[in-house]
Amino acid sequence: MSFFGNETPPAAGEAITIREGKLRVPDRPIVPFIEGDGVGPEIWQATRRVLDAAVQKAYAGQRQIQWFEVYAGEKAQRRFGQWLPEDTLRALREFVVSIKGPLTTPVGGGIRSLNVTLRQELDLYACIRPVRWVPGVPSPVRHPENVDMVIFRENTEDVYAGLEWPAGSPEAARLREFLQDRLGIRLRPDAGLGLKPVSEFGSKRLVRKAIQYALQHGRRSVTLVHKGNIMKYTEGAFREWGYQVAREEFGDVTVSEAEAAERFGGPVPPGIVVIKDRIADNMFQQALLRPEEYDVLATPNLNGDYLSDALAAQVGGLGMAPGANVSDYVAVFEATHGTAPRHAGQNRINPGSLILSGVMMLDYLGWSEAARQVEKALQAVIQQGTVTYDLARDMPGAQETSTSGFAEAIVAAL
Ligand code: NAD
Repeated sequence: MSFFGNETPPAAGEAITIREGKLRVPDRPIVPFIEGDGVGPEIWQATRRVLDAAVQKAYAGQRQIQWFEVYAGEKAQRRFGQWLPEDTLRALREFVVSIKGPLTTPVGGGIRSLNVTLRQELDLYACIRPVRWVPGVPSPVRHPENVDMVIFRENTEDVYAGLEWPAGSPEAARLREFLQDRLGIRLRPDAGLGLKPVSEFGSKRLVRKAIQYALQHGRRSVTLVHKGNIMKYTEGAFREWGYQVAREEFGDVTVSEAEAAERFGGPVPPGIVVIKDRIADNMFQQALLRPEEYDVLATPNLNGDYLSDALAAQVGGLGMAPGANVSDYVAVFEATHGTAPRHAGQNRINPGSLILSGVMMLDYLGWSEAARQVEKALQAVIQQGTVTYDLARDMPGAQETSTSGFAEAIVAAL
């Protein structure tokens, strides 16, 4: 099997496969990586160093990731004259689990965001962002330790589907005419128009994944975050379909808030997940005022986008926020921040986001011993005050270190 002309995946490795609905992970899985643009190569080197050391430490050579470089972004453009070669998509699909640094969105020339293209091509319908405070990280709130949420954001629909037409365009005029003639809707002629598709299929598969995650990870609740009071047939329907999935597919292990009060009158027993819903604006307040009451959040695309960054800020910012985009099985773990071009090549930026995405990846592989090792070591390094500039500037007495220095400190603490 060759890629990009004559490149072959590491011969010592084996592909991860899917059998009977489960991931089958060999001891030497081939895992494709995309280095990324801007600060991507630096944070990737740091991450790879930490992940390899943690796996070695946890499994004493019995398990080892066989990394396979695949190309996207500027590096792909330089080597192959393409921003996202078909072989990259093929490798990400074929090997199931992969990890990537940030990619530049080429400006102009009608090129779409590579991240959006990746999500669509691989049907990565759920964007998963765990948000938890790492002790020692400076935060703008008094009790960041009360935040421990995992956001499941729908990735393929909503106002992000790219269905919009500029004011004054022939397409907008045709759509306006159609709406007026067929449905009697009057719109201003100078309005840009967009569509907000939210389907039963798209909503249900997202909420299903969130509930499955909650059950697998012993989480207590899944909250559906929506603006159904205003957008009844999109966001309101998301809420309805969410409750429906819970009732119909997880009836014996989920309860609504009302049922929880009725049946248990207090805390629900372990193994039962409470399904609740909150209107999005209220959810932003709740996240600040009573974060301890929320656990897994399932949201349509736009709500999830806003909420992810707001919550990340609450626990110390994007430099430390991990994430993944997943389909039923295929999963791409990624830094949640961009390419930070101003800092590129300076060995300065915080690799925490990609390292913690690597932790998510280890958990996804079922290699949780290695995942916990990285988490513990990273926490220890931050608590001893060895941090990159972005954290050091808000941590009195901290010892500022470089990107690679931070990785080395974690490896030493493993
Ligand atoms: P950015 O995330 O690159 O930078 C925003 C700010 O955060 C900057 O001040 C930067 O210095 C800081 N920052 C980012 N990562 C940091 C880290 N690890 N440690 C410390 N500080 C950090 O966002 P931007 O400037 O809007 O975008 C730059 C490029 O990245 C654009 O081409 C954009 O399209 C792309 N982008 C890619 C992704 C992705 O690949 N997932 C996400 C967002 C933006």
